[in-house]
Amino acid sequence: MALVEIENLRKVYPGSVVALADLMLVVEEGEWVAITGPSGSGKSTLLHLLAAMDRPTSGALCVAGLDLGALGPRERARYRRETVGLVFQQYHVIPYLTVLENVMLAQYYHSMPDAVEAQTALEKVGLGYLARRLPSQLSGGELQRVCIARALINHPPLLLADEPTGNLDAANEEIVLDLFDTLHAAGHTLVVVTHDESVAGRAHRRLRLEHGALASDVRQTPAGAARQIPAGASAGG
Ligand code: ADP
Repeated sequence: MALVEIENLRKVYPGSVVALADLMLVVEEGEWVAITGPSGSGKSTLLHLLAAMDRPTSGALCVAGLDLGALGPRERARYRRETVGLVFQQYHVIPYLTVLENVMLAQYYHSMPDAVEAQTALEKVGLGYLARRLPSQLSGGELQRVCIARALINHPPLLLADEPTGNLDAANEEIVLDLFDTLHAAGHTLVVVTHDESVAGRAHRRLRLEHGALASDVRQTPAGAARQIPAGASAGG
């Protein structure tokens, strides 16, 4: 079933900057999609529109059956709380709160803070044992996994990430990408903007934007899964 349906999507910024030019795209539930493309090709604009942080100029953008262009302010806020989880390059954690409290703070915006549920979310990303630490006592890779736990706290159908490994060394990047694989295997839909080949190589579908339009759309055997898929088996999306 389609989770994201985009038709003739256009975003024009003031000064007549065309960031997205009549984009067409469907993302099915459960897909792990990387969005690549040169700087200025519209990747972040697309992610912001999918997160309902900005509005399209024209065209249709539907996520989980909701027409984002038609939502009022309260419905957009609700959409951001319930339908999408966001992960950024910067961690945006509160330095004087523990890891557990940082995850609970996200719950506070979504629903009721619940320490048991927050602890379970941390365990899902393999960090239950670090719940009482402060962010300054964690590595970059661990912090990014906390952010992923936080993004998933309300079980959103769509996880959006903007250069999620941009601040990580190769070993920590690998750990975060393994976590994406696990989330994908558990049925999450992932849309990840990246300029990093090793990140794009782990997705099951790779889109390339150029000048705000889709220049290529390739289903691929992901680098991580290539180890597990028997020779001759197809790895389509
Ligand atoms: P990417 O993420 O691929 O680097 P962006 O989506 O950030 O591309 O930008 C696409 C185009 O839109 C670029 O020409 C950029 O300069 C322009 N742009 C992005 N955000 C704004 C903005 N808030 N106001 C005006 N122009 C913008």
